[in-house]
Amino acid sequence: MTKTDWEEEDKMIREQFAALIEACPRCQTPENLKLVNKAFELAHEAHIGMRRKSGEPYILHPIEVARIAAEEIGLGTKGIVASILHDVVEDTDYTVEDLQSIFGEKIASIVAGLTKLEGVFDQSSSIQAENFRKLLLTMVEDVRVILIKLADRLHNMRTLKSMPEHKQLKIAGETLYFYAPLAHRLGLYTIKSELEDLSLKYELPQVYSDLSQKVKDSEEQHIDFIKSFKTPIESRLQSEGYEFEVIGRHKSIYSIWSKMQKKNLPFEEIYDVLAIRVIFTPKSNLPEKTQCWAIYSMITDIYKPKPDRLRDWVSTPKANGYEALHSTVMGPNGKWVEIQIRTKRMDEIAERGFAAHWKYKGQKEKESELDKWLEKIKESLDNPDADSLEFLDDFKLNLFASEIMIFTPKGEVRVLPKGSTALDFAFDIHTDIGYKCIGAKVNFKLVPLSHPLKSGDQVEIITSEKQQPKYDWLNFVTTAKAKTRIKNAFKEERKAIISKGEKILKDTLHQKKLTINSRILKKILEFHNISKRDELYFKIGKGTIELDNLPKILSAKSRNKWIRYWKLNFGKSTSDKEDKADQPKKKQLVLSDNEDQDNFTISDCCNPIPGDDILAVQDENDKIILHSRKCPVALKLMSSQGHRIISAQWESHKILSYLAMINLSGIDQMGIVSKITKVISEDQNVNMRSLNFESHDGIFEGKIYLYIHNTEDLNNLIFNIMKIKGVHNVTRQDRIKN
Ligand code: MN
Repeated sequence: MTKTDWEEEDKMIREQFAALIEACPRCQTPENLKLVNKAFELAHEAHIGMRRKSGEPYILHPIEVARIAAEEIGLGTKGIVASILHDVVEDTDYTVEDLQSIFGEKIASIVAGLTKLEGVFDQSSSIQAENFRKLLLTMVEDVRVILIKLADRLHNMRTLKSMPEHKQLKIAGETLYFYAPLAHRLGLYTIKSELEDLSLKYELPQVYSDLSQKVKDSEEQHIDFIKSFKTPIESRLQSEGYEFEVIGRHKSIYSIWSKMQKKNLPFEEIYDVLAIRVIFTPKSNLPEKTQCWAIYSMITDIYKPKPDRLRDWVSTPKANGYEALHSTVMGPNGKWVEIQIRTKRMDEIAERGFAAHWKYKGQKEKESELDKWLEKIKESLDNPDADSLEFLDDFKLNLFASEIMIFTPKGEVRVLPKGSTALDFAFDIHTDIGYKCIGAKVNFKLVPLSHPLKSGDQVEIITSEKQQPKYDWLNFVTTAKAKTRIKNAFKEERKAIISKGEKILKDTLHQKKLTINSRILKKILEFHNISKRDELYFKIGKGTIELDNLPKILSAKSRNKWIRYWKLNFGKSTSDKEDKADQPKKKQLVLSDNEDQDNFTISDCCNPIPGDDILAVQDENDKIILHSRKCPVALKLMSSQGHRIISAQWESHKILSYLAMINLSGIDQMGIVSKITKVISEDQNVNMRSLNFESHDGIFEGKIYLYIHNTEDLNNLIFNIMKIKGVHNVTRQDRIKN
């Protein structure tokens, strides 16, 4: 680049920065302006020479993120400063300490929260999940961290075009999985919709472009309709002396698409693509709620309401702070139209979420629903040793859930995710009430803990001092809080059993003048087919593994080569005491997908596939051959060479495919073969190798060779082929030598 190019570019960057200041009225006081300028000069200098994938100077990204934070989220000076600096620590030589000495602790800690985690993670954890978790933790400290992160993500999504495709898919997926629900949960409706639409655009480009065209067409068709619909409403509100605005709003592309998916409907049959929104400035002398209902009453004088479609989020706002009165009315052309009634304040909160909420805070006496939500997140983050992936799953469940309102016996309202049970409610009140819960009364009727709650239920929890948390409770709780608490209860118990088991092993070894070392542990672990030390201690502590045969295990020579590949189990069920007492334990081979295929052969006399009962025969060269237990050859081997037989079992079988063959017959008719092959080719779990059909005297017979994962998939396929008209018989053939 020549000197003039640099100058040109610097000029352009400074213009962008000036536009940002323009968009942020709160940054314009002399003191604030000084701070924002300082941040800009530092970031500009730090990112100098760096470029984005698009070729743009990097600094334009933080400037744009700050503009989104100011304009679309409504953050103030500190938020803008932190936005400008958000990539400085991650991508340049500056440290959090540097920022702290220049900008103070608050801004430095927000930037620290926005910096990705570094370092090594063990394989069981996901760096991705750890980062999300860190983000959530800092969010509770200062919600601006997540708001800036969402602005950052939004700008990255808007400029995703210049990324390579595999990155586009990863980023779009992450956005849909995590950021969009989070934006929704924080009440940032506009940002949430844009994130979803952009994700769809990159994940399913064709679907996206088709739908955006359809939405555009329908918007044009709706112009006249909206006009005729709103005219009588407008004149009525005017005559009542209201200051207001009536607008028509279309559903976002993503929400249309997800409704089409959920209800399995074409675009044309989604009836609520359009909503009419009435936004008014309340008259000072009456409560907002009263006025919302007054306007509802005026509108339903004009258009008849659908009785079951009234939603009152004015009396009880949604957990993300959303307030409005929704109803569906019959429009002039006989079509249902959704009406949303809100004040200007409610509208701003609905569109801009948290930041707008802040602005109005103090105006309302009651604790804001959003603050309560943040409090809940704090609680569910309480547990520092929860597995991060598990945590993220639980957390996400709650992000997505719609809500129900439950009343306590005293009439207090608690908002829970849809699908919550009486036990969730008990944990929502207090952890100890959850642990001691034995049942509940829902609307004065006694119900079990697993009873699913409905919005409006009044619930009284019944506890008993004798009650203990049960592991199977996990099967019927929905909330992250209940799940975490139940798991915690068992973590404590598990820890105790593990240390008990360790002590038993230590003592047993001690009697033989031995101590635990890695060589001894390895032998025991291998013998019991356990990969983790804690798992072994746990089983010893529980008594499911006994140590009687310890000398034998320790003196055993290292096994044949193939044993390295196969996990060995001993006995059918270790807890089956009678079995264990006198009979010698039999080895069992467990075959799973991730094993090395070279070490076994599937016998071609019976061609077993996963799901079949099988056994393994070890030949002279230590090769393993698998037979079906029904196989005559195997039966013979069993009776003659029992010492070579190893009982075997399939464990998981979703990756590798095996050859199988089916025979079919039926009435020959036009197109029957293509119908059959269509069913097979549409089945994702099956690949066809070859097929052979013969027809004579109106009857057909066929043989099809398939590659298939397991018997379950095969049975499903057979079932589906049987449904074809004309097919009379489908059977699997075991002997498939050809
Ligand atoms: Mn960034």
